[in-house]
Amino acid sequence: EQDVADYRKNLSIRVSGFDVPRPVKTFDDCGFPPPLMSAIAKQGYEKPTNVQCQALPVVLSGNDVIGIAKTGSGKTAAFVLPMIVHIMDQPELGKGEGPIGVICAPTRELAHQIYLEARKFAKPYGLRVSAVYGGMSKLDQFKELKAGAEIVIATPGRLIDLLKMKALTMKRATYLVLDEADRMFDLGFEPQIRSIVGQIRPDRQTLLFSATMPRKVEKLAREILSDPVRVAVGEVG
Ligand code: ADP
Ligand code: MG
Repeated sequence: EQDVADYRKNLSIRVSGFDVPRPVKTFDDCGFPPPLMSAIAKQGYEKPTNVQCQALPVVLSGNDVIGIAKTGSGKTAAFVLPMIVHIMDQPELGKGEGPIGVICAPTRELAHQIYLEARKFAKPYGLRVSAVYGGMSKLDQFKELKAGAEIVIATPGRLIDLLKMKALTMKRATYLVLDEADRMFDLGFEPQIRSIVGQIRPDRQTLLFSATMPRKVEKLAREILSDPVRVAVGEVG
């Protein structure tokens, strides 16, 4: 267990788990390839945020992660950047079908925000990103998924509908993110989340991000993550 306090920002970072890699101080420390470094610079990101410093090396090393940090701390890039590296590493990238990275978010607004960020980092690699959520034509989304996407960002209900319609297969999905897990529970998506997780191969990497960790979310995390590293960023007070 490490206990690091950043007094300048009045934040404490608690990390617990096995074989936890050391935090990074810069994006260079992450060993990202040049096209990704350029995309990061283009975004105006000079250095990783607190949660990114700790979570990036842990996610990049292939661990499952429980990330607890409040809104605005930069959680999206903490799972999107390693997702691009993960996808580019897949020997099946040029073959097969269906997404390799799957991100679930509670609302269409959040799914759309993640989509915008993912698209910027996916672009230099020509990776296709699809966002699917309620309030948009299911048929259009069906067609888009059928055409192919390496990354799918979805609200749980709409993803279940599209899986039932066989718009996509999860057979090569190996990187699953549950973002804002507490809000997904508040909105009653637990059964849909369980169903989605049940359709993704067990040798996946699973990341769960949440602003809070109620008992029900903790229980789900224990069931679907394997030996997760916990990264918690909170105020010292
Ligand atoms: P969270 O998911 O924790 O609420 P976001 O991922 O939405 O936070 O990020 C919050 C804001 O911070 C976004 O506008 C994002 O572009 C910006 N941001 C993320 N990482 C960095 C960084 N390393 N440097 C500067 N800005 C960043
Ligand atoms: Mg977020």
